[in-house]
Amino acid sequence: MSTQPSKTIDQLKSLIKGSVLVPDDRTYDEARQIWNAMIDRRPAVIVQAAAADDAAPAISFAREKGLELSIRGAGHNIAGNSLCDNGVMIDFSKMKNVRVDAGKKRAYVEPGATLADLDLATQAHGLATPVGINSTTGIAGLTLGGGFGWLTRKYGMTIDNLIAVDMTMADGRRVRASENENADLFWAIRGGGGNFGVVTQFEFRLFPVGPEIVAGLIVFPFNQARQVLTKYRQFLNSAPEELNVWVVLRKAPPLPFLPENIHGKEVVVLPIFYSGAVAEAEKLIAPLRSFGDAVGEHIGPQPYVEWQKAFDPLLTPGARNYWKSHNFTDLADGALDSVIEYAGKLPSPQCEIFIGLIAGAANRVAPGAMAYGHRDAKFVLNVHGRWDEAKDDQKCIGWSRDFFKASAPYASAGAYVNFMTDEEGDRVAAAYGSNYDRLVQAKKRFDPDNVFHFNQNIKP
Ligand SMILES: Cc1cc2nc3c(=O)[nH]c(=O)nc-3n(C[C@H](O)[C@H](O)[C@H](O)COP(=O)(O)OP(=O)(O)OC[C@H]3O[C@@H](n4cnc5c(N)ncnc54)[C@H](O)[C@@H]3O)c2cc1C
Repeated sequence: MSTQPSKTIDQLKSLIKGSVLVPDDRTYDEARQIWNAMIDRRPAVIVQAAAADDAAPAISFAREKGLELSIRGAGHNIAGNSLCDNGVMIDFSKMKNVRVDAGKKRAYVEPGATLADLDLATQAHGLATPVGINSTTGIAGLTLGGGFGWLTRKYGMTIDNLIAVDMTMADGRRVRASENENADLFWAIRGGGGNFGVVTQFEFRLFPVGPEIVAGLIVFPFNQARQVLTKYRQFLNSAPEELNVWVVLRKAPPLPFLPENIHGKEVVVLPIFYSGAVAEAEKLIAPLRSFGDAVGEHIGPQPYVEWQKAFDPLLTPGARNYWKSHNFTDLADGALDSVIEYAGKLPSPQCEIFIGLIAGAANRVAPGAMAYGHRDAKFVLNVHGRWDEAKDDQKCIGWSRDFFKASAPYASAGAYVNFMTDEEGDRVAAAYGSNYDRLVQAKKRFDPDNVFHFNQNIKP
């Protein structure tokens, strides 16, 4: 930032209700930390927004100076797209307020809120909307890419329950977008990520959930992986949508309900979530135990907000992460073969392969209804490379890529943009499939200069 006269920063400061940080500031280094420790970039200016009004001057400052612009919600993007080098980062992480109108079953959410902030506020009224499975993830990035989690089978993707957004556009205009206002823009932002403008408020539809749900884990030994996965596939044909069961293959963490001799060994974990009547849960879950000889189980009624945090300890910030992901309409034998093969050669204790089940309400939305169009996807498979030391980069990235390649023949078209890395820019058109052309038209109309390009970019 040495080329910028300090008075320009001072002028920016005078327009911003929040804080403006430059590299000399005491809190600068803390403010540029994001979830994936592989991404280490140094913005010239960090605008820590305190109000929606802070977006326009920050955008205009970046544009006038020809600086890169990035937008940060909770900084969980795997590609690190919230953090730019030598540019302006608009950081919403201090704007976390969630207001709930319980009568209307609506939540009004600021762009820095995490899933935990939303869940806590909505569950105070026994309400929730589908979001992800790790409570520290940001609502903003998650929603703009699609968003799925335990409630998706029953209530759809996060964007399926987005009612409206308030936005600041590339030219500083403030607009509202919904099905009735700026409908083309609303179509584009529901899956199109941060390509079209800066969202300063999200409005969501809420549903009665919990506050107590039944959830937990059943853990099987890895040598039973094939039978567990095959029975899992079959079981899903008759499972109600209130019941969601995912699969995680990884080395067992030292969980207290697992025998010590299993710790560090490959296992197949079934995370289970049931949002229907607590009394009904046991009979629905019981068949899952017959998938094999479980080495441990920890399952029971618990507050929905607690289950939403259950995986946080395994997904803390600060590790190195590299993800690759496919959608699947079914789990073909070949797909299961590749899962088992690569789960058998995990390159670090934290690497995992997970199969997220999203079959249900999300499949009943038309593919062209909004930018996110993978309405045939019943499973999202993510290979989650995760490790601590840079010396293991090659080994862990190589494993992730090899597994991605081996499982590709069984995948359906498209990809979930929220799980794409920074090197997958050439996959963006394919990721959106038949909706891509309409997204390009929307980009030409709403951001013709591609001001918002530090993302999985849709080029005008
Ligand atoms: C541990 C972990 C668990 C996850 N689990 C799930 C899951 O269960 N389900 C799921 O669907 N996804 C999941 N994800 C993926 C997640 O949806 C994406 O990483 C998402 O980008 C995170 O949003 P964020 O606000 O934290 O990200 P950030 O990195 O802050 O932002 C990501 C991008 O979103 C855009 N953006 C952010 N805020 C705004 C805004 N206000 N206006 C316009 N654009 C904006 C920008 O382009 C930005 O670069 C998970 C990610 C992690 C790291």
